[in-house]
Amino acid sequence: MAQKNGIEQNLPYGKHFASELLVIDHGEGVWLWDSAGNKYLDFGAGIAVNALGYGRDDFAKAVSEQTKKLVHISNVFATEPAIKLGRLLVESGPFQVVHFGNSGTEANETALKFARAWALRTKGEGHHKFLSFTSAFHGRSYGALSVTPNPKYQEPFKPMVPGAETARFNDVADLEAKLDSTFAAVIVEVIQGEGGLATMTQKFADALNTLCKKNDVLLIADEVQTGLGRTGAMYASETVGLKPDIITLAKPLGGGLPLSATLIPKKVNEAIHMGEHGTTFGGGPVCASLGLIVWKEITKPGFMESVQKKSAYLESLLLELKKEFAFLGDIRGKGLLLGIEYNKNPDNPEEATAEVIRRARETGLLVLRSGKNVLRIAPALTITEEELKTGTDILKNIFASI
Ligand code: PLP
Repeated sequence: MAQKNGIEQNLPYGKHFASELLVIDHGEGVWLWDSAGNKYLDFGAGIAVNALGYGRDDFAKAVSEQTKKLVHISNVFATEPAIKLGRLLVESGPFQVVHFGNSGTEANETALKFARAWALRTKGEGHHKFLSFTSAFHGRSYGALSVTPNPKYQEPFKPMVPGAETARFNDVADLEAKLDSTFAAVIVEVIQGEGGLATMTQKFADALNTLCKKNDVLLIADEVQTGLGRTGAMYASETVGLKPDIITLAKPLGGGLPLSATLIPKKVNEAIHMGEHGTTFGGGPVCASLGLIVWKEITKPGFMESVQKKSAYLESLLLELKKEFAFLGDIRGKGLLLGIEYNKNPDNPEEATAEVIRRARETGLLVLRSGKNVLRIAPALTITEEELKTGTDILKNIFASI
């Protein structure tokens, strides 16, 4: 069992997990309590998942009611919650259908598979390649991993799926040089959530729109981390004018239950045949019932504006910190997916950033890392300005004493 400080060292997990982990017991709003009773302000939200905060009665009621009615029935039947949620998602853009899954990885896997089927059936053989970008993260199954060009994740598991190529993120000339009609799809994040929070420029978005169209290549926006209000817009694509054919969603969609969605346009749907792809659990009625609550909350009038306002406030707090501490660098991201570069120890940036995160935890703040040295702040979208100030004050004290 966990020790007094809430840390469990004797975990039944493999070496791909940390050797010790904080055992979280429960949460309320943006606050968490560990198994030893210590309280934390949560700037991580289960890695940008818990958009509406913890301890919600509406979630508990919906899960309880739906569980009594029906937990699972598979995709050889339909359920009302999934149909309702599917329609809302389809109507959120130029889409015809949705494919529900269980994770971001699976949403991307679906997008990549469908892109290949579309390319094969509309352009013919030899048009199966995927283009992704440096520092991207799209998941860990073979397709999604093959477009995640990070040696740490790929090397031990090689060979990757053939035809996955990489261009430099935000580099229009490199995109122009590499993209041609032999590609089925380009897959891209507007903000590289795991890759240091690098943010797509408007110029790069324009080039992606133009070049994908010119070469008859599908544009997939991976909005697993950025979608559904995280950036103060329904989709981050809107903030830079990106016009994707396919959008993938996951993290916040199921309110913390595993639920993902691949939003598919008519032309791709028409290229897919019955039974070619599927999932046992994807779009189950309990997950979809929470998805409906998430959708209802984030589409309430003023919700996106409130995220934008809190984002501006958080950015101003981070700017103050940057002014005070020379070892803080770029402020990155958008909305409530913001980060600040921590340059205290350029020889070992990961270790130095981990030290800040450890100290924050010891002082009651849970914060994330992105890339090697970016402190990532991705709280529940329902956080208050006062709570943002409390968290950045904790960071300030750590920076002052480190
Ligand atoms: N795509 C992006 C942009 C992500 O941030 C993540 C996870 O962090 C994934 C895909 C993979 O999602 P999952 O871990 O749910 O498979």
